[in-house]
Amino acid sequence: METKAHTNLIHCPVCVSSDVTLDTTQSSAYYIDKYKHVLNIDVSNYFTGIEQVEILDCKTCSYRFYHPFSLQAQPEFYENLSHNDTYYLEEKWEFEIALSKLKKGMKVLEIGCGEGNFLEMAYNHGIFIEGLDTGKNLLTESKSGIPIHKQVIETFAQDHANEFDAIVSLQVLEHLTEIQNFINASLYCLKPTGKLILAVPNIEAKILRYDENNCLNMPPHHMGLFSPKAFGNLSKHYPMRLLSLKKEPLSIDHSKRYYRIYITHIRKKLGIFGMALDKILYPISETMIHALRTQLNGQSMLAEFRKNNRS
Ligand SMILES: [Zn+2]
Repeated sequence: METKAHTNLIHCPVCVSSDVTLDTTQSSAYYIDKYKHVLNIDVSNYFTGIEQVEILDCKTCSYRFYHPFSLQAQPEFYENLSHNDTYYLEEKWEFEIALSKLKKGMKVLEIGCGEGNFLEMAYNHGIFIEGLDTGKNLLTESKSGIPIHKQVIETFAQDHANEFDAIVSLQVLEHLTEIQNFINASLYCLKPTGKLILAVPNIEAKILRYDENNCLNMPPHHMGLFSPKAFGNLSKHYPMRLLSLKKEPLSIDHSKRYYRIYITHIRKKLGIFGMALDKILYPISETMIHALRTQLNGQSMLAEFRKNNRS
């Protein structure tokens, strides 16, 4: 098959398998238009010479990813985005769950700490934490003076072997194409039974899957799509074991948005019947979603891995 012949040349960024198949293709113009329309950001320079973007599916580890890899966002992209009000709002849930996995007195590194919101929170709980981030406009320390190293983990790891009780990285992995280097370098910095705590968007959450205007879940911002299965599978391909995987429940703040996204999807599928359904459900939508809230997925999920002793 033509599809197979092409994808044979591509290796999965998570498990390096070449058993990769083509899921879907989308024109570059689609992504450029979405960013322009929703966020008023021009991303066309990322798509120069690229007509089609592919979503590929790894048959070995279930990870799905965008291709070509050259689409991955560069630092200036995040500077543009940081001017956008909605960007850093939705990170509370994983902050609290990550914090519950840490203990007072632990030595912890956060990769991708931004301005240091999680650093501050952990510091206030008696955790010895420091951060890594490569953002150009960031300072070298947070508000309380917690150090922020302006390095990527691969470089930082060279001088910090077996040093940390835990490494936390929240909403970083899905941006990367060099996942293998990232995880190996993180494990290298952990003490022999240290913990790697990662959070990524849960692509099975309908609030993400059905939201056609969520361009932040598309390249150049995101390069990968993790289902809970693919996320948990990380432990099969690296010297670490999965301790827990927790999916965010839908937050009350998002229940209206959830209804809107879901009903738009249903209306597209069912046409006039979908419209009738919307008329019936709309008045009770808030109560209904509120009641079902704990059964519905929010955007995020967090997994805790333990480094294997022998690594
Ligand atoms: Zn894979």
